[in-house]
Amino acid sequence: MPGGSTCSAPPLSASERPEGVEAIRTTCAYCGVGCGIRATVTGDRSVRIEGDADHPANFGKLCSKGTHLGETVGLEGRLLHPMIGQSRAGWGEALDLAADRMRQTIAEHGPDAVAFYVSGQLLTEDYYVANKLMKGFIGSGNIDTNSRLCMASAAAAHNRAFGEDVVPCTYDDLDQADLILLVGSNTAWCHPVIWQRIEAARTARGTKLIVIDPRRTETAEQADLHVTIAPDGDVALFNALLAEMRCRGLLNKSYLAQHCDVPSGYIDSLATNDFGVDHPTFAALADLVAAYPRMVTLFSQGANQSRSGTDKGNAIINLHLATGRINRPGMGPFSITGQPNAMGGREVGGLANTLACHLGFSAEERADVALFWNAPNICAEPGLKAVDLFRAVHDGRVKFLWVMATNPAVSMPDADFVREALARCETLVVSDVIADTDTARLAHIRLPALAWGEKDGTVTNSERRISRQRALLPAPGEARADWAILCDFAGRMGWSESFAFTSPADIFREFAGMTALSVQHGKVLDLTALAGLDYTAYAELEPLLWGGAHPLGRRFIHPDGKARLIAVSAQSGELADPAYPLRLNTGRYRDQWHTMTRTGLSPTLSQHRREALLEVHPADAARYGLAQGGLASVSTRAGKAIFRVEICDSQRQGDLCVPMHWTDSFASGARANRLPLAETDPHSGQPGFKNTPANVVAVHPSWRAFLVCRDDANLPGLLWWSRSRIKHGWLYELAGAADLDPAGLLPDGQWLEAADLKHGMRRIAVQGQDGALLAALYLTRTGTLPPREWASEQLCATTGSGPELLAGRPAVPVPDRGPVVCVCHGVGSHTIQSAACAGATTIDEIAKATQAGTNCGSCRPAIVRLLSEIPEPSLEAAE
Ligand code: SF4
Repeated sequence: MPGGSTCSAPPLSASERPEGVEAIRTTCAYCGVGCGIRATVTGDRSVRIEGDADHPANFGKLCSKGTHLGETVGLEGRLLHPMIGQSRAGWGEALDLAADRMRQTIAEHGPDAVAFYVSGQLLTEDYYVANKLMKGFIGSGNIDTNSRLCMASAAAAHNRAFGEDVVPCTYDDLDQADLILLVGSNTAWCHPVIWQRIEAARTARGTKLIVIDPRRTETAEQADLHVTIAPDGDVALFNALLAEMRCRGLLNKSYLAQHCDVPSGYIDSLATNDFGVDHPTFAALADLVAAYPRMVTLFSQGANQSRSGTDKGNAIINLHLATGRINRPGMGPFSITGQPNAMGGREVGGLANTLACHLGFSAEERADVALFWNAPNICAEPGLKAVDLFRAVHDGRVKFLWVMATNPAVSMPDADFVREALARCETLVVSDVIADTDTARLAHIRLPALAWGEKDGTVTNSERRISRQRALLPAPGEARADWAILCDFAGRMGWSESFAFTSPADIFREFAGMTALSVQHGKVLDLTALAGLDYTAYAELEPLLWGGAHPLGRRFIHPDGKARLIAVSAQSGELADPAYPLRLNTGRYRDQWHTMTRTGLSPTLSQHRREALLEVHPADAARYGLAQGGLASVSTRAGKAIFRVEICDSQRQGDLCVPMHWTDSFASGARANRLPLAETDPHSGQPGFKNTPANVVAVHPSWRAFLVCRDDANLPGLLWWSRSRIKHGWLYELAGAADLDPAGLLPDGQWLEAADLKHGMRRIAVQGQDGALLAALYLTRTGTLPPREWASEQLCATTGSGPELLAGRPAVPVPDRGPVVCVCHGVGSHTIQSAACAGATTIDEIAKATQAGTNCGSCRPAIVRLLSEIPEPSLEAAE
């Protein structure tokens, strides 16, 4: 099979495991929920996945991404050897060159001319070594992480309110709350196992759910109340709620007096009539908030990825502090992270504005850290945050950049500017798993790193729970652990003694010991009890929650022990520009992860959304002449990108939304992060991705086509293309302005061809000598194209009938299952709708009739949506 993908399979029961093969307990590679996994190696690069019933984050549950991790452990696209330019190099040669370049850069321009840009994909041990090297030995603060794009505003809000970046809740609080507010979080798609936990609490104890979000997502559709705010309307709404609680006499005055410092007159100054949503909705929201003191507010990227993200976090925290709804079971403001180890990075100093272990840059803290590390060059001040870092690369202040485990050419806002900066950089080192990311293509030196399933270390999830990620598979090629690469590099820079770590356990012990400094400076991050773990204890480390359930319960971390209410005011979210009358939001898909380097290789996960869709309200579609399924070009002051149009009323009128996942490897011109401006929150440096002035125009290609093929297609210059993984190959969608010459596109073999020149239809199937299909192209200028599913499946068939292949459908029609909803069982929307019309009126009845939703459960909200769309007469007729 090309690419070495493994087939999806249901989890193994204990009795089904190959004899003598034990499941290895590890942690999911993807989101900040941090689900425990039991992985069983079933062959060469083949792993079976099941949820770890003993892991307190997920109790055995996994979402679709975690369930299908086994499809992503193949070696397709892997970087397996060090590379200098396009030439293979030895490790010694590559690291010598990198060290020479860094030494030379520092000698000529000082330590602030070098930088690391790291990632929430790194393990805590990798992060720790990178941070120690940069801030203690190279002598610059210039290490920042892509977590800056994810939760830096929540971290800044914690620091302002509590005096330390501490999440005051755990997942147990979700189980115990009577009311959960989700702010800027499509939990059902982005943190699906948390969503299932919320759903379980609603079923078990009637927990009320409010979703505050400009979009009517699958999460919002399930809520008791959806508050459709304008983009960046959060601060106004939470300030109004605080004022309303004041008017209703629900502020906790004794808690405020004992535990909080409140800016003089702040709460009394807040108006109750400036809430940015209609009055009945606000009244319903206020009634629920007033009625249920056991309240958790879970907030995520929708709040954080904003030019006012820190103020949003503090507006949420203010409400909890003022009502005393914090540090008790079922209560608290709860920031949930996007990446698996964003929290671990925060703990060790992966953000440019923290030194290490939650310590800052005061003279005393710097001196203590320098002493602990025996560091010769402790940095003097915070380094450049991500957006400023790439500006510095662009204008030549930073001349040496090492990017680890991330793809900023795609994921940063104003990504074309970042791409230009990377192209200008005098020395760009990239250590990564994938050989050919959009960033790696620009690197002078590429270093092969270990992937999930090969790495060994720890991660910390959103609730502060440290879990082990364990190696399942041997290192492929010459790939090495990030921490080991860094230690080797440090040795070449002359600091081998301080980086003489021989295992992740060594590093973890040093990190845990270093948290004695946090304690000494009054912080709650305290892992000192783990500083003496021996290798066996580290190897067997069970998931553990640092700080306990409510670590701020005794006192806050500010010197007076009090929390701070922060006087935040609603700012206009507008970046008014008449040339860009719409507002662009960016979001995530249920079954894709970041820039698709892993999930994009999974045929199963790729079924859910095969293309990047531009979601647009029907009124805007009419106004801008957009057609359902057509193409449209979205432009902002930063750039342009092309997407397939999806007309839906889940967007507010005037708002657009596109997914952030697609890269140049998966589509031409659909990189959403070309579009957001590099405007940042003043406190956190986190860029706003969610509210960019934009315009849209329809794109009218002269022809459209799709292509199924076994191997990567060699595409000519086209107006637009997008590709997605299918079993045994790829499915390409194509559109062009100029005529297409299929000869350069299709492989050698026996050609079968049909054409209808009047309608501009052309169909070509290419078969191998054994009759198996190698590729099929279906092109039209004015007509419709056949369904993709049957044609895609023909790559798996050993032979194909020519007339059927050219027709793009079987001689005997098979039912069209429709767009896939349940990827685990391959159940489409038409199948679900048919079951509903045949009498299945509940999600459990649909599950029984179709199997949809019976494995990971990630599709259950979509099934509920489909059921709600079935016209009543159909259901009545079925009854
Ligand atoms: Fe992985 Fe899904 Fe759990 Fe997130 S919710 S950690 S993606 S299994």
